[in-house]
Amino acid sequence: MQPEAPHEASMLQPADFDDNDPRFFMQLALDEAKKCIPSQTAFSVGAVLVDNTVRPYKILATGFSRELEGNTHAEEVCFTKLMEETPLSGDEKEYTIYTTMEPCSERLSGKKPCVDRIIDFGRVSTVYVGCQEPSTFVTENTATSKLAERGIRYLLVDGMGSECRNVATKGHLGSPSGTDSK
Ligand SMILES: [Zn+2]
Repeated sequence: MQPEAPHEASMLQPADFDDNDPRFFMQLALDEAKKCIPSQTAFSVGAVLVDNTVRPYKILATGFSRELEGNTHAEEVCFTKLMEETPLSGDEKEYTIYTTMEPCSERLSGKKPCVDRIIDFGRVSTVYVGCQEPSTFVTENTATSKLAERGIRYLLVDGMGSECRNVATKGHLGSPSGTDSK
């Protein structure tokens, strides 16, 4: 029997940095998601906003759910931090956002959904997601079609869905990680 080579995204190290491999950044987003204080009534998501116009890529901002006050979402946190910390110049639309769960298209709180924030930000060309949004709070997420209408690419990163989902539902009743003490 052939021993299988380890192929876990979580084993990616900076030395393995491959700026074509979305798993590298998704792993960083997942690390952000793990910082969330678990919530029964919200997902725990992490996001990383990256500038693709420079080499090596530049991480512009990171965020995780509820990191900032006001029941904030991970993508929202990225944009808020970036606006506060880094004055933007130029009008490149080459940024990529990696989010462990697809951006929300509706918020029960009535706040602006993350998919609209991504569109309105105007500089994101590509959205990588770790997993799709389960229909726990909102029946149908329409982020895919909304982004496509604006010419923004939406790509699911292979092989990280279950981990992203487990982290996202941490604290939810009956979730596989609901009793996880980590
Ligand atoms: Zn959101």
